[in-house]
Amino acid sequence: AKGTGKARCVIYSARLGGPPEHDISLEAAMFQAVREGEFLLYYQPIVNAHTRQIQGFETLMRWKHPRLGMVPPARFIPIAETNGLINLLGAWALKAACVRVRRFEQAVRRPLYISVNISPRQFRNDKFLGVLDDALATSGLPGERLLLEITEGTLMVDPVHAEAILSQMAERRARIAIDDFGTGYSSLAYLKRFPISVLKLDRAFVKDLPSSHKDGAICNAVLDLAKHLRLSVVAEGVETEEQLRYLEQRGCQCVQGYLTGKPMPANVAVAALTENQYA
Ligand code: C2E
Ligand code: CA
Ligand code: CA
Ligand code: CA
Repeated sequence: AKGTGKARCVIYSARLGGPPEHDISLEAAMFQAVREGEFLLYYQPIVNAHTRQIQGFETLMRWKHPRLGMVPPARFIPIAETNGLINLLGAWALKAACVRVRRFEQAVRRPLYISVNISPRQFRNDKFLGVLDDALATSGLPGERLLLEITEGTLMVDPVHAEAILSQMAERRARIAIDDFGTGYSSLAYLKRFPISVLKLDRAFVKDLPSSHKDGAICNAVLDLAKHLRLSVVAEGVETEEQLRYLEQRGCQCVQGYLTGKPMPANVAVAALTENQYA
């Protein structure tokens, strides 16, 4: 079949590079999976911490393998990042998510936003801005309702290049979130340098709330910093009412986690939105 030659070439070079045998077969299966359409997008609600109204969704990729079942992104994203398949998968996800959120908006007749993870390699790819333009044009989604999630590491690899890309994104009015905030570089200088709108407070600082004094102090410090820099905060991995209340009382605008909704397929997301709309 078409494309197998390319896949095989990658498999051979991976074998020479020496990653474990298991990942090589997973990598080979990924090329097949792209052709077979085994990759899916799930959507996890991001809700207002006070009203619990759904404000938007984070797009999370899934791989439904016919034999292995759901392969977690923690397994396949790093491989896609290494072999470059992330550019293809990421471009598809960005466009599909922008189109999907327009349907969500139509279902509830109010604006929503969509958050999409952008990997370091995708961010650095020459074609990325073209992909972004295509996603916005095809969907008709206003740029300000697209949130691009990048990590601190992505910005710090080449800050000069990052600055140029971010200003291009800002020109399209797309907003930038720092994903896993607090787990990467300890430097905060980039908050001043780059046009960032949202901090996604990592689950690591949320999971032991409210009992952990250290995590409480970190959350307070992040919320305080965000307030003074006029950034909004989305707390990740909120699983309990106590965590939500703790964060909300300290000025956290939005939360995301199993408490207010797990990642779900698009049709389930529409049902969740419909139920949530008078909240
Ligand atoms: P992330 O961007 O930090 O995504 C949040 C992860 O936390 C998701 O895992 C989500 O399912 C999980 N999560 C959400 N709420 C809770 C909670 O209350 N408790 C717990 N324990 N976990 C929660 P997931 O879907 O397995 O994704 C893992 C990572 O894979 C993501 O971390 C992201 O780095 C990457 N990823 C997923 N989809 C994409 C994608 O489309 N593109 C790229 N580049 N990376 C992706
Ligand atoms: Ca994310
Ligand atoms: Ca995260
Ligand atoms: Ca993470």
